[in-house]
Amino acid sequence: MLSDHQISQCQAGIDRLALPVLPLVRLVGMLYLTGPFARLTDVLAELIEPVETGGLRYEEPAQTLTPYLEAMAPYERFKHPQAPSRIILSAELAALDQFEALEGWVAQNVVSQELEEINSLLCGPCACRLCCIGPEGQMVQDFFEIPLLESETAFFPLPKIDGIKSRQTNSEAIAPLEIDGLFFYDRPDPILIHWHTGWTMVLPRFTSCPNLDQSSGGCTIYPDRPDVCRRPQIFSYVLERLPAYDQHYEGRMLPAFSRQDKILAVWDCPYVKEFQEQIGIYAQLCGLEPVFKENKA
Ligand code: SF4
Ligand code: SF4
Repeated sequence: MLSDHQISQCQAGIDRLALPVLPLVRLVGMLYLTGPFARLTDVLAELIEPVETGGLRYEEPAQTLTPYLEAMAPYERFKHPQAPSRIILSAELAALDQFEALEGWVAQNVVSQELEEINSLLCGPCACRLCCIGPEGQMVQDFFEIPLLESETAFFPLPKIDGIKSRQTNSEAIAPLEIDGLFFYDRPDPILIHWHTGWTMVLPRFTSCPNLDQSSGGCTIYPDRPDVCRRPQIFSYVLERLPAYDQHYEGRMLPAFSRQDKILAVWDCPYVKEFQEQIGIYAQLCGLEPVFKENKA
């Protein structure tokens, strides 16, 4: 549970949860599609007054939307057709019409971007290290792992395991990879392993990321932290990636997704517990279903 002081420090994030940008994005998307606008920026140029929609009031709509223009770009495919770059199916894996597909794509982009910003506002005041350490206390897991891109491994001064055996298996295999006679997660320190699926940093029990500043609890490589460390504990699940449905198209592979229209929140995170009600309202205002799930219990 957060203290009153920590809750007050989270106020900027709570305010953002109360005024999600997606309802405004959808309104402007409809204006763009039904009006005489060539580009989304043409709609924004007209938004000089506050806008109200769905009981929400946006004082400076154009300013609010400007950082989301790239996330909204799929709307422009209606007026400026391009070669397909992804396949978006319904939750039942049926074909969607172009509007439902592109609207889901925009919603996924916008909510992902907004929740990343909200996460940053809520995480700092919690003084929590859960995302940066291995299992502790009563946790049942033997290890946690953080997926890394090859280029990101350079930021972690750790031993690397990259061989035929590691590349033929993964961390969930029934027969765990052994290193120097020990299961990979029974080692006393974190390690980088290149699995069949790519690199991960393995954090065995009671260990922590080498980039975690033990005195401040901060990240010593914050500007260069890997992509996965930037992901929020409340995250967009408007689209689910479905690699099994990827399709070849004119010499390219189009990635497939299905519409789920949900927001997932990881229950282990202290701000998710503290602001469960606000997260539920945020999802509702976005027309999405909130789902709370435990990750590291
Ligand atoms: S890189 Fe930084 S944010 Fe990521 S796990 Fe390590 S300390 Fe935490
Ligand atoms: S669990 Fe939540 S509060 Fe803790 S470090 Fe991760 S994002 Fe921050």
